[in-house]
Amino acid sequence: IHWEKQVRNSAQIHRSGGLSVLVTGAAGFVGTHVSLSLKKRGDGVVGLDNFNNYYDPSLKKARRALLKSHNVFIVEGDINDARLLAKLFDVVAFTHVMHLAAQAGVRYAMENPQSYVHSNIAGLVTLLETSKSANPQPAFVWASSSSVYGLNDKTPFSESDRTDQPASLYAATKKAGEEITHTYNHIYGLSITGLRFFTVYGPWGRPDMAYFSFTRNILQGKPITVYRGKNRVDLARDFTYIDDIVKGCVGSLDTAGKSTGSGGKKRGPAPYRIFNLGNTSPVTVPTLVSILEKHLKMKAKKNVVDMPGNGDVPFTHANISSARRELGYKPTTDLQTGLKKFVRWYLSYYGYNHGKTVN
Ligand code: NAD
Repeated sequence: IHWEKQVRNSAQIHRSGGLSVLVTGAAGFVGTHVSLSLKKRGDGVVGLDNFNNYYDPSLKKARRALLKSHNVFIVEGDINDARLLAKLFDVVAFTHVMHLAAQAGVRYAMENPQSYVHSNIAGLVTLLETSKSANPQPAFVWASSSSVYGLNDKTPFSESDRTDQPASLYAATKKAGEEITHTYNHIYGLSITGLRFFTVYGPWGRPDMAYFSFTRNILQGKPITVYRGKNRVDLARDFTYIDDIVKGCVGSLDTAGKSTGSGGKKRGPAPYRIFNLGNTSPVTVPTLVSILEKHLKMKAKKNVVDMPGNGDVPFTHANISSARRELGYKPTTDLQTGLKKFVRWYLSYYGYNHGKTVN
């Protein structure tokens, strides 16, 4: 009963026409930011997260505390728990699901392949099953990944480009997710929006990602490993700042339910949409390192090695014209500015505030 009360409180809407959103993976990097942004404009938000230990669980707990201070409650549980999901939908008539829970990371798939199947396939299906039977049926927005473009080296990537050559199990499960969600759209009329995020970075980010671990190692005077592609070509990523990604997510939620009229009457077929959310300006990894060096006022000890065949792709670059047109998506933060904000957060979060300032 205590639990129900917290869920109801968290789900309260404070603006007219506000949404009621279940955010899975709410203790994660993107989930925390999306939840805060929705809550701040008056939407009802309930989080769900299993607080797994893929990376430092204390960071997830700190994000939970941040959300709690803004009256967002995170239910601790797994998206594979059908009974828990049914109970949540019983307590709250969610208008939208923002599905961000997943086993992320490309390289970890070689250590623990089953965790990808558990969260990105089985968990996705459980959540879709609950969503398609819920009344009202929520619009379903979820995180796919730029990794679905796999070995395709024709850049920039457009949504209609081939995605049948995944380079990692992570990518394969995201691609499978795009096909699985399509069947729920086709059979049950569930409104689906898949968002292909391109290397998201920023405050409260993920410790397993390069920009984060480089920062940690540089500050601790430890070497960093920089991968180099074939023929000594630098790797590059279309790094996208978290606030831009959040705007894309919110824009997707706001436009997702458009084909469903009031009283659950459908005005047309439910949409199945896929969008790239990137920054359209790839930056090489050595440039990323030099920006970090500048902001940290420290030199990195670089170990440059040939990229092992571990699932990484050499280059990503998003064509975002669809998202611009249909979601009003417009990234505004370049890597210099975004990393400055990240470094400032990092120094303060990890208590480096004595004498160390950011340029
Ligand atoms: P994250 O790991 O910080 O967040 C995911 C959260 O989901 C974690 O808090 C985790 O505890 C939770 N979770 C995992 N499995 C779960 C399960 N079975 N049940 C309940 N909770 C579970 O990752 P993120 O960077 O915030 O990524 C969010 C989404 O965006 C993921 O789907 C990810 O695959 C996708 N994505 C991220 C990036 C990026 O650069 N960050 C790029 C492309 C796609």
